[in-house]
Amino acid sequence: MKELSDEAVVLRTYKSGEADRVCVLWTRHHGKVRILAKGVRKTSSRMGGSLEPMAHVKVELVKTRGDLYVTRHVAHLTRLTTLRESYPRIAAGLAVVEVVDAIPTEEAADEGIFDLLVRVLATLDNPEYEPDLVAASFFFKLLAYDGSEPVVDQCVNCESPGPLVAFNAEVGGMLCSNCRSGVSISPEARVLLTRILQGQLASVLRESAPPGAGEVMALAHQAIEIHFGRRLKVTRATAPLASSEQ
Ligand SMILES: [Zn+2]
Repeated sequence: MKELSDEAVVLRTYKSGEADRVCVLWTRHHGKVRILAKGVRKTSSRMGGSLEPMAHVKVELVKTRGDLYVTRHVAHLTRLTTLRESYPRIAAGLAVVEVVDAIPTEEAADEGIFDLLVRVLATLDNPEYEPDLVAASFFFKLLAYDGSEPVVDQCVNCESPGPLVAFNAEVGGMLCSNCRSGVSISPEARVLLTRILQGQLASVLRESAPPGAGEVMALAHQAIEIHFGRRLKVTRATAPLASSEQ
């Protein structure tokens, strides 16, 4: 039997049998793992609350058969109390874990993604920051981490400084009026996106509904879907469910 002890974030859970739950975790040192949490759906279980989506936990696991692990011990590392009390924060957090779950890096550890994930959950748990643009900025960070950060300071096609009037996620950034394709972008959204990508994220997140926010969120969803080559549940739902139990 292989045992492992690691730090993890719960990405998704689903029911298994009468009282068990399978949880998909992103761990710091072992990449993405699936665990079978026995009996957690019984009301008497103390482990259940630690294995909800977005939970940041310390786990001790034992590998049984196949690639499924069984939980030996689970403990909270961060409580995320502010995050869990607000519907917009929960919705943003669920969007983040869904996108991380879509990353096609099964079985390969990626500590960089783990760090980004823990940081974005901490941001959502911080009452100083508005939650609306947190998921969108996380998607752009993930693109940058993968070497696909969109070009926003010049036309991605002809390198002209602008004016930049369109954004095309397939081409990888903003476009001038001669090269325009994709969707039109307002001057407000262009400024906001540039601030997010060029070091002013913390001040952007302190503002309530900055001009262009809706456009930037739509562009982020589009860019991350094109990057992964598939439609994501969260970007289709205008009001994502607060629980990912299926
Ligand atoms: Zn151009």
